[in-house]
Amino acid sequence: MQELVNRVTSMVSQRRSKILDQLKQCIAFNTVNPPGNEGPLARYVGERMAALGATVDYQDVVPGRPNALCSFRFSADGPCLLWNTHMDTVPAGNVPWDFDAWSGQEHEGLVYGRGACDAKGSLAGMMGALEILLDLDLPLKGELFFTPVAWEEGGGKGTAHFVRTGMAGRRPTFAVVGEPTECNVSNAHRGSNRRLVAVHGVAAHSSDPDRGVNSIYRASRLALEIERLHERLRSKRHPLLGSPVVSVNIVTGGVKHNTIPDRTEMTIDRRRIPGEGPTQLDGEIEEIVAGLRIADPSFAYQLINLGMDKEPADTDPNDPLVQTALRLSETLNGRKPELIGVEGGTDMTFLTNEAHIPTIIYGPGDMKIAHAVNETVPINQVLEATAFYTVLAVLLLAGAAK
Ligand SMILES: [Zn+2]
Repeated sequence: MQELVNRVTSMVSQRRSKILDQLKQCIAFNTVNPPGNEGPLARYVGERMAALGATVDYQDVVPGRPNALCSFRFSADGPCLLWNTHMDTVPAGNVPWDFDAWSGQEHEGLVYGRGACDAKGSLAGMMGALEILLDLDLPLKGELFFTPVAWEEGGGKGTAHFVRTGMAGRRPTFAVVGEPTECNVSNAHRGSNRRLVAVHGVAAHSSDPDRGVNSIYRASRLALEIERLHERLRSKRHPLLGSPVVSVNIVTGGVKHNTIPDRTEMTIDRRRIPGEGPTQLDGEIEEIVAGLRIADPSFAYQLINLGMDKEPADTDPNDPLVQTALRLSETLNGRKPELIGVEGGTDMTFLTNEAHIPTIIYGPGDMKIAHAVNETVPINQVLEATAFYTVLAVLLLAGAAK
């Protein structure tokens, strides 16, 4: 593997300026979601992939917001390696940046811009890797299916659509999701439950509060119980993802300064680890309310699913994909190969939980600064990821993933 890694690393160095130029071009497309407007970037990527010999299709997730499906077929049979990453970004925010958020400004070894690491660094790395992979001109088998998707931020609708419409007739053998992991290999991410709880009370004139039931007091007791739940969750632990967490993040209630409130709403975000069920938070809230009803038997509430749940995802650490990726990572950078967990959700959830594809997450940049002001991606990591994607594809499509 070392010889191949050396060869690819030097090819990446030779193409450094083109890889970075493509990264800056990708950043320059404003794909803030909403509205996303991924179409122009999808065509930019699709045209470059077509020029390399890909068969390119555009799959509308909703009108004007396409996934780009770029197929490189090396032989009629053999494995299918899926490369997934996303084209949309979160907004730049209202705080001024040191550099324009769409400039792709290079400064002290970093490229600045909204989406620099989440996930246009991965996107540019994959684009660069495809060019190098084809230039290597090795006898590969099967297909590399490169699918930059729309609408990952806020729901993963692009990948969900791709998976739920049959993956364009493919049954991928393995998948790589390009998201910032600082060039570490990840085989797991947390899932989530998001709920709105409407706590009911009884309205009354506040000159006589005892005639009513104050929904704010009820909701407050519930909120404090959620805080205690968070503390209890520390006793659960996933080796890579740590403990599950829960928090109350919005509370609204009351209608008038002189009226006892009869409805208070709160939204709760519960992050789940593998092994926790799809309605984990619902059961926990029911249990808490049962406890509150001991002192307040008429405690009334309504639980509303906000429709943003993601399942936690993990791939067996002993899967050949994971093991091959770890060995490669060690050969590339000499660091001890250690798996990491991703605390947020990613599109891996659809690939593992719905399509049952062994999947890893890997990309340049740090998820912690992904949605922040002055988002950056280190140039050396973009180049390392480019080499990683290239060599991993060679190893998997040459049938060497043992
Ligand atoms: Zn992302």
